[in-house]
Amino acid sequence: GSARLAEILATRIDEYPDFPAPGVLFRDITPLLRDAGAFREIIAHWRAMVPAGVEYVVGTEARGFVLGAPLAYELGAGFIPVRKAGKLPGSPASLRYDLEYGSAEVQIPEGSLPAGARTLVVDDLLATGGTAAATIELTRSFGVELVGASFLIELEGLGGREKLPADVPVTTVWSIP
Ligand code: AMP
Repeated sequence: GSARLAEILATRIDEYPDFPAPGVLFRDITPLLRDAGAFREIIAHWRAMVPAGVEYVVGTEARGFVLGAPLAYELGAGFIPVRKAGKLPGSPASLRYDLEYGSAEVQIPEGSLPAGARTLVVDDLLATGGTAAATIELTRSFGVELVGASFLIELEGLGGREKLPADVPVTTVWSIP
């Protein structure tokens, strides 16, 4: 039930002040992942929150893999990794995007998403929204039907949701004000 869910979120996600940079309160999901029962319950709860008929889950490196893959498996969907540049063979689809300092590049394997496929973008945490916005843009370049973006944790105070396209439904397991 929801009490058990609240207990898991309160006790299985650790907080580290000033990591990896001053002013950042880092949320570490390692305790959740190592607790077999809690991990299972989170994925079971999460799968019931996402839009129906998902055909592909797109997960971002690295914690979007760890959470997105079991979510895809439970949904009966395929899993597509979004990787940092330089990790994928062939001619992956690429998108360069701006960070606070400098830029980053994300890639998806070539030919991995068929046009029109019902696709869900997944990551562990929505902070400023830069990562998710880039992932959504790159995913949409395949001509898929983006049915939503879904996160275990949303840090509402950082306004990430407003950085995502307005037509993408966003769901989160735990929204932190
Ligand atoms: P952003 O692009 O700012 O929305 O940041 C999202 C990405 O950075 C996700 O892949 C998160 O794993 C990671 N991230 C950002 N802030 C935190 C945080 N406070 N704790 C843990 N991970 C974070």
